Amino acid sequence: MHELPITEQIIKIAEKHGRKFRASRIESIRLIVGENSGFIGESIRMYFDIVAAGSMCEGARLEIEYVKPKLKCPSCGEFFYRKPLSFACPACGACGEPTEIGREFYIDSVTVSTDSADAARRNKDRRDI
Ligand SMILES: [Zn+2]
Repeated sequence: MHELPITEQIIKIAEKHGRKFRASRIESIRLIVGENSGFIGESIRMYFDIVAAGSMCEGARLEIEYVKPKLKCPSCGEFFYRKPLSFACPACGACGEPTEIGREFYIDSVTVSTDSADAARRNKDRRDI
């Protein structure tokens, strides 16, 4: 359940980015999630709309790219995807070792919208309140 605080963190970072570029709103956030990162992308997606409500990120598209873990062969240096029930290097048969590939967890990019139509609508909303 540590995806909730991390989702809040992602939204904070995106908003900081948005303010820096004087954006009217955040269009999309692209997240890189290694399958061995310990984070479940779909849980982040589940929390995202709830946490983003009322923020600059409301309605933003959350794009998640998953990274499959790769092993490295200590004998020949080959990087490879593990086969089910096997750690064997496809090139030489030695036993592969874990690498950092598949442990990634970071925001790759944030796309902001600065279009004036959006800004105008936001101002109007503000007056209505
Ligand atoms: Zn090998």
